Amino acid sequence: MVIPVNTPLLAGNELKYLTECVTTGWISSDGPFVAKFEQEFSKYCHRNFGIAVSNGSAALDIALKALEIQAGDEVIMPTFTIISPAQSVTALGATPVLVDSDPHTWNMDVKLVEAKITSRTKAIVVVHIYGIPVDMDPIIALAKKYKLKIIEDAAQLHGQTYKGKSCGSFGDISTFSFYANKNITSGEGGMVLTDDKALAERCRKLRNLCFEPNQPRFVHHEIGWNYRISNLQAALAVAQLEQIEHFLTIKRSMGNFYQQKLAFLKEKGYQLPVIQTDASQNLYWVFGIVAPSETEKEALVKHLNEQKIGTRPFFWAMHEQPVFLKKGFFQNEQHPIAEKLARCGFYIPSGLGTSQEQLEKVVYQIEKYFA
Ligand SMILES: *Cc1c(COP(=O)(O)O)cnc(C)c1O
Repeated sequence: MVIPVNTPLLAGNELKYLTECVTTGWISSDGPFVAKFEQEFSKYCHRNFGIAVSNGSAALDIALKALEIQAGDEVIMPTFTIISPAQSVTALGATPVLVDSDPHTWNMDVKLVEAKITSRTKAIVVVHIYGIPVDMDPIIALAKKYKLKIIEDAAQLHGQTYKGKSCGSFGDISTFSFYANKNITSGEGGMVLTDDKALAERCRKLRNLCFEPNQPRFVHHEIGWNYRISNLQAALAVAQLEQIEHFLTIKRSMGNFYQQKLAFLKEKGYQLPVIQTDASQNLYWVFGIVAPSETEKEALVKHLNEQKIGTRPFFWAMHEQPVFLKKGFFQNEQHPIAEKLARCGFYIPSGLGTSQEQLEKVVYQIEKYFA
């Protein structure tokens, strides 16, 4: 039996609420679980407004558009992340301006941000990577000083805090994903959070084909895609949110288990996730390992995969993406930390549904490889 890198845990009210959708006939985005999910999740993150959408990438599309990012603008973001934020920026004709990673936390190195700000800079996209939040205080100070908007992509860190404040509460707009490997899931799903009523209304409109609230139906003044979420997905999400504290405990105990059992890797030149910073305890959305070289990573991953243990490579940096290079972005850019993470990093199974026995097998196979 293969040990997948992620297994979701659906042992609460998921089936009950899904059944309710089917028996009542509320399956589209008009059903009551959508509003319930928006209210409960925005409250959980201490925000005034939540707009549930079809996925986390859609949430970023909506966030950047709602903040009026347009052609000619520059948006600062990490190079080491998923493609979604860079894609949303280029789709609007704006330019992503990339920042290398901090070698310890793997987040955007906030010390490098100010030097990237120009008269064209409009916003900073902050992406919390893998378990430790970005150091927000310096980002907030820069945003104030240069009048920039903050978009906070918290897709990996539902329930995490920075200095006691919820991730997802820092952005002018913050975004989440509820894909099956996230801390809570609706299968596919996303959310936009904000405290600004006008922005929230704009996001609602952008979610739904830009139907105008005060115009005759089917008369449109702007283009907007269909980014709606279904009542079925929201039903799953509501059931998952009820269990979030338990899920966060599971994530942290898996992370602590691996930290203990795999500590010997550090003497062999491997890097494990940071356990904590001054601001946060690692939440271990995934448990990453960075090998001393690409060859050593490939050999260890090959061994694990042969033993039927799933792994995933780390993100591939934006400045090395063929699609962006073809479009003329990031020519000759170098970001050495992100390049090393992309080549030498991978993560091991730690889904909420991964069993203790499976974790022990993973550890056993890593020990065996080095024995
Ligand atoms: C998962 C993820 C996304 C994309 O979410 P989807 O729901 O898969 O579109 C965006 N940003 C980050 C940081 C993610 O981890």
